[in-house]
Amino acid sequence: MNELFKEKGIKVTRQRKEIYNIVKANPSTIKEILKRKTNDVDVSTLYRIIDLFIKKGIFIKNVDAKGDVYYTLNEEHVHYINCIKCHKKEKIDLCPIDDMAKSIKKETGYTLVSHNMMLDGICEKCAEKQKKKEK
Ligand SMILES: [Zn+2]
Ligand SMILES: [Zn+2]
Repeated sequence: MNELFKEKGIKVTRQRKEIYNIVKANPSTIKEILKRKTNDVDVSTLYRIIDLFIKKGIFIKNVDAKGDVYYTLNEEHVHYINCIKCHKKEKIDLCPIDDMAKSIKKETGYTLVSHNMMLDGICEKCAEKQKKKEK
């Protein structure tokens, strides 16, 4: 990560490091980041860090089905499935869009340059909890 910061021309600070690691561990909304952080990062500092990370192409701003904004690392083509209960997000390796892009190109002549996809589901843990409740 120090390499990445250097490459982007930003100074490594403890606060920046922490925010980066939180989002790396799990794509998060501002609220979730605030809940998880341990350092003395106040809200305005957090917004400043996120702004900087987005400007530098370190974070990507995403919107989920409910319209909540959450942040992910700017990585090569990945998608996430979101648990509608606990909002934990898991990386998915496959993408159906790649195949679709070929048919889109054939049909419309358009070359797909970007796409957004967020899948909603219920994680194993929450499914367990739900089962127990039903008994
Ligand atoms: Zn869950
Ligand atoms: Zn994709």
